[in-house]
Amino acid sequence: MSLGETLQLHISRRRIAGAVRRLARRIEEDYPQELPLLVGVLSGSFVFMADLARALSRDAQIDFLRIASYGRGSVSSGSVTLRMDVAADVRGRHALIVEDIVDTGRTTEFAVRHLRRKGAASVRLCTLLDKPSRRVAPIEPDYVGFTVPDKFIVGYGLDYGERYRSLPDIYVLTGGPDGSG
Ligand code: IMP
Ligand code: MG
Repeated sequence: MSLGETLQLHISRRRIAGAVRRLARRIEEDYPQELPLLVGVLSGSFVFMADLARALSRDAQIDFLRIASYGRGSVSSGSVTLRMDVAADVRGRHALIVEDIVDTGRTTEFAVRHLRRKGAASVRLCTLLDKPSRRVAPIEPDYVGFTVPDKFIVGYGLDYGERYRSLPDIYVLTGGPDGSG
């Protein structure tokens, strides 16, 4: 715990709820027959997944992947590995990856390839937050809640060293992550 970490409110729970409702309506429109298999990327997506799934007016199947991409804190290691696979058989299924944030895009690129390799009929991406300024992999989300600046974000599932995930609003963290103060 470093001294001088400061949280600055960036997106209120009220605005998050509005974005979640808007995304749910668009997803329902885009999948008029059957909702896609929602594949959350743990751990960051768990709060967004819970709200998004409940905002959908039709029943959706929910599954999770765990991918290790970041080491401790805020510095990306650049290497990505699968830690936990989905339980569902994704062959022939339409999958929608649910992410907390797409930053460099490496994690998401890995998840997209993984689900395609397993035989998904289609793979789309829904992310609550998009940080396009730091993109390395060619990932363009199909559904975006908010575009965020190149700042370190916590709350609503997003952590800094496993802290702050349970905050109901989204904050910019300063004075903690290396160099991003
Ligand atoms: P990417 O592979 O660089 O796109 O990002 C992978 C993961 O890094 C995300 O799923 C988040 O868990 C984490 N991450 C990226 N940016 C932030 C941030 O601003 N705050 C908290 N976690 C972040
Ligand atoms: Mg994370």
